[in-house]
Amino acid sequence: MFKDRLISLKGEDLLRTLRTAEFGGGVKAFIAGRPCTQFCTNDYLGLSHHPDVTAAVRAAVDETGFGAGSAPLIAGHTRYHKELREYLARFKGSETALLFGSGYLANVGIIPALAGEGDVILSDSLNHASIIDGCRLSRADVKVYRHADPSSLEASLKSCGGYKRRWVVTEGVFGMDGEVAPLPDILHIAGTRDAGVIIDDAHATGTIGKTGRGTLEHFGLEPGDGVIQMGTLGKALGSYGAFVAGTRVVIDWLVNSARSFMFSTALPPAACAAAIASLRVIERQPERTALLRKNADHLRSSLLQAGFKVLGDGTPIVPLIMGSAHDAVKLASSLMDAGYYAPAIRPPTVPEGMSRLRFTVSSLHTADDIEGLVEALLPSPPAGEG
Ligand code: PMP
Repeated sequence: MFKDRLISLKGEDLLRTLRTAEFGGGVKAFIAGRPCTQFCTNDYLGLSHHPDVTAAVRAAVDETGFGAGSAPLIAGHTRYHKELREYLARFKGSETALLFGSGYLANVGIIPALAGEGDVILSDSLNHASIIDGCRLSRADVKVYRHADPSSLEASLKSCGGYKRRWVVTEGVFGMDGEVAPLPDILHIAGTRDAGVIIDDAHATGTIGKTGRGTLEHFGLEPGDGVIQMGTLGKALGSYGAFVAGTRVVIDWLVNSARSFMFSTALPPAACAAAIASLRVIERQPERTALLRKNADHLRSSLLQAGFKVLGDGTPIVPLIMGSAHDAVKLASSLMDAGYYAPAIRPPTVPEGMSRLRFTVSSLHTADDIEGLVEALLPSPPAGEG
């Protein structure tokens, strides 16, 4: 039965397979042995190879070994975890913070810890799979509002007066669409209806806001008591893991109730050391975040000028919409022949008919890299040209 399903996925150009990647630093890579310039990493600031980061990892491994050995509430919470939590809380302007094994684990932990039966969650229609799964696990009622549409959120929230608690959950920067959520409106609407707001800043941390602090900073906002910021360490921070920043009461509650925190091994201390070193680089060198923005604007405006249909604005995620999975796979393959790597993104990651190449830029891309990619796209304008 699984074999038949795999065959039908292949027939629809929806089969996923693993390719082995080799990175030597920078944006040059070998994918399945083929040399290329990659335009798909979430290591937006190139920090996973930064000498401060790799040195911090080596020092932590020399001191503590690699694995944490147990869950944080047993003996897995080391001085590296404590220091990173304190750093992230400061960085995000919150009272305190908590670490999780990954962004996926964070969302499937925090949402059910904060919302349950008798509560309602208002969720953006394009939220990440981990948010959707967290909502499902929570047993709260879930109402999906139109993507990034405050009026749809407001209309949904209006009918939610009877619930014990109300939560709004949104990505700060939409990872597949490259847009910034309309947070000022969302926070205002949530505030008038006594709803808490969970912001998934996985793709915003390190990438937007003047000093890379994420979506709230982008809009010049401070986190109020009703706001919980989640973020990952595996993207712009060049490490692995995730965090949630909020008030002491909320974080204490998560320590006592988020199952993916309580029942899972703590992050390797070296992953915390890497994230601390990355945060220091981000604070010391705001020009990295500024360069990322410049590169993103360069790619987005070049594609638009060439007549391609791209989404988003002001973020390093530049999706080129193709429509069918078949067209997306075909274009990805011809780009790979030209030495550029950005795999096709297809359902269920994105809605049916919205397959795409999701280009991401890094602060390490040169103007030549970006222009080379656009040129490689030009000979055969895609179906999504518009
Ligand atoms: N939230 C969003 C918006 C994401 O894009 C991702 C990963 N792509 C995650 C959560 C999960 O993070 P992680 O990769 O650390 O599990």
